[in-house]
Amino acid sequence: SKRTGRNKVTLFKNEMATQAAELLKLERDIMKAMFRDEFYFVLQPLVDSETHTLKGAEALMRWKKDGETINPAEFIPFLEDSSLIVDVGERILNSVCRYICELDERKLLPKGFKIAVNISAKQLAKHDFIETVSRVLLKHKVAGDKLEFEITESVALNNMADTIKKIISLKKMGISFSLDDFGTGYSSLSHLKDLPVDKLKIDRSFINDITVDKQDENLVRSIIQLSRNLGLVTVAEGVETQAQVEWLMLNGELLFQGYYFSRPLDIEDFEKTYLLEATS
Ligand code: C2E
Ligand code: CA
Ligand code: CA
Ligand code: CA
Repeated sequence: SKRTGRNKVTLFKNEMATQAAELLKLERDIMKAMFRDEFYFVLQPLVDSETHTLKGAEALMRWKKDGETINPAEFIPFLEDSSLIVDVGERILNSVCRYICELDERKLLPKGFKIAVNISAKQLAKHDFIETVSRVLLKHKVAGDKLEFEITESVALNNMADTIKKIISLKKMGISFSLDDFGTGYSSLSHLKDLPVDKLKIDRSFINDITVDKQDENLVRSIIQLSRNLGLVTVAEGVETQAQVEWLMLNGELLFQGYYFSRPLDIEDFEKTYLLEATS
């Protein structure tokens, strides 16, 4: 009837108003968080499939809000939409470089160890991204080869020519590149061939079911093959079980990242578990 129709409209309006209010609150909270410097990073190790030794770590952003840790799923989409990701991303890069310098001074930096930082499309698209990165490296006296940048297929697809040019410049500084969430985007094989990346990270949605789903099994097998043919290092992310580890070890020479080995750790815990041990 007309009446329930009107009620529905009112309900809908209320819902929209609630959503708008929540968004406004998030925006206010994020501006406060930037002012108070509440964004930081945790580290998740990457290990070798043969030896299970540390090969690197990925820096993952967190937000400490009123003593509570907030995961990126809850705020990164907002940072992306509002372009604040450019500013926050630069802060994370800066903190990571400061940390690498500190590890170096404490003689805790293992040989060949790199920290991977996620770089969003909007950061890479900035005309001064290269200058920003070289300024941050210089500021902390960090060599580029201690850093890796993780980009997604969509980042690369935005503007192929510009992306490739920038990747080449950054690689000249020693920074290596990893193609993140591989398999979830829309890039074609020709794009992949043209992208000068060093690593390919198989998205964890594919790893999830390799031991139970024949189709995923075949898919992951062909991604590993493809990656090998392109001369890339392959990373399996989201490895959670012994069965997945065993399956992957039978199917290629890989790097592993996932809860089976370690959750992302606060810097202190990461050091205790992986660095103090490794060098002593
Ligand atoms: P991502 O780059 O694909 O990072 C991997 C995500 O998978 C992380 O979630 C990590 O905690 C989670 N993960 C790792 N191993 C496992 C596992 O075995 N099982 C499961 N279920 N999950 C696992 P997190 O930390 O919540 O980050 C989510 C996403 O937020 C990241 O996905 C990345 O796209 C984005 N992100 C995180 N930090 C940054 C950053 O500094 N800058 C940008 N632009 N994006 C970031
Ligand atoms: Ca990543
Ligand atoms: Ca990923
Ligand atoms: Ca992902």
